[in-house]
Amino acid sequence: MRIAMIGTGYVGLVSGACFSEFGMSVTCVDSDASKIERLKQGEIPIYEPGLNQLVAGNANSGRLRFATDLKAAVADADAVFLAVGTPSRRGDGHADLSFVYAAVQEIAHALSGYAVVITKSTVPVGTGDTIDRMIREIRPDADYDVASNPEFLREGSAINDFMRPDRVVIGVDSERAKEVMRRIYRVLYLIETPIVFTDRVTAELTKYAANAFLATKITFINEIADLCEAVGADVHDVARGIGLDGRIGRKFLHAGPGFGGSCFPKDTLALVQTARDAGAALRIVETVVDINTERKRRMAAKIIDACGGAVAGKAIGLLGVTFKPNTDDMRDAPSLEIVPALQAAGAIVRAFDPAGMAEGKKLLADVTWCNDAYTAIDGADALVLLTEWNEFRALDLTRTRSLLRRPIFIDLRNVYNPGQMAAAGFIYESIGRPALA
Ligand code: NAD
Repeated sequence: MRIAMIGTGYVGLVSGACFSEFGMSVTCVDSDASKIERLKQGEIPIYEPGLNQLVAGNANSGRLRFATDLKAAVADADAVFLAVGTPSRRGDGHADLSFVYAAVQEIAHALSGYAVVITKSTVPVGTGDTIDRMIREIRPDADYDVASNPEFLREGSAINDFMRPDRVVIGVDSERAKEVMRRIYRVLYLIETPIVFTDRVTAELTKYAANAFLATKITFINEIADLCEAVGADVHDVARGIGLDGRIGRKFLHAGPGFGGSCFPKDTLALVQTARDAGAALRIVETVVDINTERKRRMAAKIIDACGGAVAGKAIGLLGVTFKPNTDDMRDAPSLEIVPALQAAGAIVRAFDPAGMAEGKKLLADVTWCNDAYTAIDGADALVLLTEWNEFRALDLTRTRSLLRRPIFIDLRNVYNPGQMAAAGFIYESIGRPALA
């Protein structure tokens, strides 16, 4: 089985490396020549645990190659995966499909012999039909099928998610394409991974429905956290108390500063637009989008309140800028709202992130970037824990307190225990839990 993976970002690189680990011959293609050059030199352009070794092992075995030449990779392939970006279109929230369509045009010209063209990118309902029509118009002679195989991996645990997924969703409209997809995922059949075969449109919608549901679950617990603050209840215990109910489940019930990242914000927005266009508005998801946007903005006010109502001229130590731990991805991270809002109120922000600072420097202006957590804390008037990297879960509290000018600790991820923090002498604020004096 020969695979061409078009787009070598978080999804394309991980998927390509994992397929080659499954024993397939994979060419990862990207239009970004510098990315491909780095990969050829053995350098991994993103931060993803375990990816270095996986890529090196498969590249050395000759099963995984990197190229900028889409034509040769596609001409040779039995399966062509599209893993290019589908960001939000500026202004209206629809998914921007320009990268997808640009790649499809090139693919159409390059097809030779039967191949399945598969969207792994998250694409709105009906995109597979459009791709099918585009290829047919450009190459009436081509022998191909179009399939949908949305990806559910999470950054930070992407390899395990890909190798041991809860399920694989595949939308096909022909038996021939189904057989190719079966062969690609043969290894997962052996470990009895559920494979949901369906039609293309249903597969496309399934991906958005999954992300919208998870975003709703997060938003639900965030609102319950606000209520907890108002009535003096503890959201941590509420989450445990409801999450132990098997019908609800414990995952995605962590109250925090609002969801961010490369998927939930743009995918919820795109789903809202799809639903409106179809005349079947999704009012729950619309509300989730609004609440989350507002919440990220409100987090700066929460920090300012904890600092006594004003931060002008004050130094704020900030731990973590990525949208979650174990990634360098900053797309739609809460830090992108919170840092500028604190700066607008006159604060001086001193930040540290284990993997996000290179990206952070491009996106956040006038931040003092520090080499480690304690340098960011040193001399700060307050400390904000924004991303729950493991190394921030075990801070030396005595040292932290002595380095802070004032012992104000705002924990937007509920990593620490309010009782212990009070005992350690902090003025401690978290999300949805009573502050203890
Ligand atoms: P990304 O931005 O990291 O990577 C996209 C890559 O595609 C870039 O390297 C870009 O240079 C390349 N590209 C763009 N146009 C190209 C073209 N015409 N030919 C060749 N290469 C081209 O994006 P990502 O995070 O990997 O996401 C890709 C898709 O997967 C999106 O639709 C996203 O919604 C979806 N997805 C992402 C995740 C995630 O956690 N990042 C999870 C599931 C699904």
